[in-house]
Amino acid sequence: DRARLLTRVDELVRLVPDYPKPGVLFRDITPLLADGPAFAGVVDAIAQAAPEGVDLVAGMEARGFLLASPVAVALGAGVLPVRKAGKLPGPTAVEHYELEYGHASVEIHPFTVPDGARVLVIDDVLATGGTAAATVALLEQCGAHVVGLSFLVELEGLAGRDRLGDHPIDVLVRIP
Ligand code: AMP
Repeated sequence: DRARLLTRVDELVRLVPDYPKPGVLFRDITPLLADGPAFAGVVDAIAQAAPEGVDLVAGMEARGFLLASPVAVALGAGVLPVRKAGKLPGPTAVEHYELEYGHASVEIHPFTVPDGARVLVIDDVLATGGTAAATVALLEQCGAHVVGLSFLVELEGLAGRDRLGDHPIDVLVRIP
């Protein structure tokens, strides 16, 4: 059941202090990915919570890919890799965004997004929300309709949710 799944997620997400830089408490999901029943449970929970009629599941590079792909199969939807700069052969649609230090961008192949496609966006961790907000803007720029976002973990203290407008957000584990 859900309570048991949440306990397993808690147990299997490893806390790594000061990674990738001092002061960051990194949530490492590799032990969760490596546990067959827990991984299946998480994929199932995300798919169950998904809105109706999802055409495409967008996953953010790189851990988002690992969750978006099985969820897409479970929903009978396609999968859309949202990539960091310079990884796709193009032509690409690009959205630039600011990081704490510097900037980054996300890219997709717009010709894989039918006009009005209903897209579910997935990543492992919602932190500041910068990546997710840029992904939503990128999809909307390409004529997609973002029907929801789903994260394994939400770091509530960083208020990433506030940058995602009123799109429905599903989260498995909230960390205050
Ligand atoms: P955000 O600040 O919401 O744009 O987060 C950017 C990306 O970094 C997301 O794709 C997350 O997977 C990752 N991330 C941010 N903070 C953490 C963290 N504390 N632990 C693990 N991943 C993180």
